[in-house]
Amino acid sequence: MPPSGDSPAPTTAVTFGVNTDQQHPATRDQSITNTREVAPPIHLTTTFEYAQDPDLLIPAIDRQGQPVQPFVYSRESAPNLTRLEDELSVLTHGKAITYANGLAALFAVYTYFKPRNVALSPGYHGSLGVLQLHQKLTSLSIVPLSTPSSSLQPGDIIHLETPVNPTGESLSIAHYAQIAHSAGAYLLVDSTFAPPGLQNPFDQGADIVMHSGTKYLGGHSDMLAGVITLKDDERGRKWAKELLTERTILGSIMGSMEQWLCLRSLKTLELRVARQSESAEKLVRWLYTCLSDDNKLPTASGTAPTANKPTQREIDIVRRVVKTVHHSSLQGVLDPSTTKWLPAQMPNGYSPVFGLSLKTPDLARHLPSHLTLFKHATSLGGVESLIEWRALSDKQIEQNLLRVSVGVEKWELLKGDLLGAFEKLGAASV
Ligand SMILES: *Cc1c(COP(=O)(O)O)cnc(C)c1O
Repeated sequence: MPPSGDSPAPTTAVTFGVNTDQQHPATRDQSITNTREVAPPIHLTTTFEYAQDPDLLIPAIDRQGQPVQPFVYSRESAPNLTRLEDELSVLTHGKAITYANGLAALFAVYTYFKPRNVALSPGYHGSLGVLQLHQKLTSLSIVPLSTPSSSLQPGDIIHLETPVNPTGESLSIAHYAQIAHSAGAYLLVDSTFAPPGLQNPFDQGADIVMHSGTKYLGGHSDMLAGVITLKDDERGRKWAKELLTERTILGSIMGSMEQWLCLRSLKTLELRVARQSESAEKLVRWLYTCLSDDNKLPTASGTAPTANKPTQREIDIVRRVVKTVHHSSLQGVLDPSTTKWLPAQMPNGYSPVFGLSLKTPDLARHLPSHLTLFKHATSLGGVESLIEWRALSDKQIEQNLLRVSVGVEKWELLKGDLLGAFEKLGAASV
């Protein structure tokens, strides 16, 4: 864990105000969707008729960035996309730009900023893959997150993933913002594990915020998306404008169906994420209580009520197979230096993802087959609970680690599913 730095006071409240915020953004698609439909229409067209009036036929090159009509070709822009980006801009507190998926978004950011050094936090292996692709074209160096500011240069990037994949533990955004800024570098936060409502990285000093929209923004395991948000200030608006121009060249735009699906999903973002976060915290508290001898308990965040005390039977079953549980909600118990910055960084609750280390790799390989509610699959953030023996996706990771993505099912049912599977596993391994 990094040393604690006092987090700056939030300038924009991180609230779960998704449903109310969402009603307001001006919908730029209105000129062609001026209907009384409650759900927006789906627009699949790739091209749009030019104006009837010959005087309005101005070649793109002479327009000096001024579109004479809102939509021309869907690689540039499309009605559902502008509506989605307006809504995402409100939710993510800045100027949001969408991409075909999270890694395409990262690729675009690194193409635009061309940093010489990137200090990369541990986390999603694909982000490292994007930087390695850039190394084929540039002299970019990938340096550890612990690199001191004296070894960073202006224009470099600290790439901080928090909460971290796959354990759901957090790193201090304010701490790394301070290091980046003292070198003239930028802080990029991959906030995928803490969607809007749980964390606003700009409050803690981030310059660029990224989300894999495939996870919580989409929320139903049926679409890919990536989002980059820049601050709504002069510098951020300039970056956003230039990134948009480059996106048209890169072509990594969301598909029309995905744009519409994501609009559909945002309507329930608040409901889903609040419930998923609360259930994850309850499951983690239950598991942690079963495992800890001293009954030292994490203080519940936000409104999460305390879980019932585990029975002796539950304690025996859990202890037979589980070694440890990893989650931001436990960081305050295990590392007191986190108690200041972490609640300021995540005031409404923690990630709906947590890590579970079993006693042996063999137990971790077998657990998913004994579960019925949890599906054994990669990815996260959907309404259905998923669990993954992480060694299947990430070669570097501990072999006894499972990643748990909590869905919207009743938490007591999820607890029962886990308990039943632990029991079968324990009996089989005796
Ligand atoms: C999934 C994920 C990504 C990549 O996003 P895609 O939409 O799959 O391209 C990046 N970062 C984190 C933390 C992720 O979980």
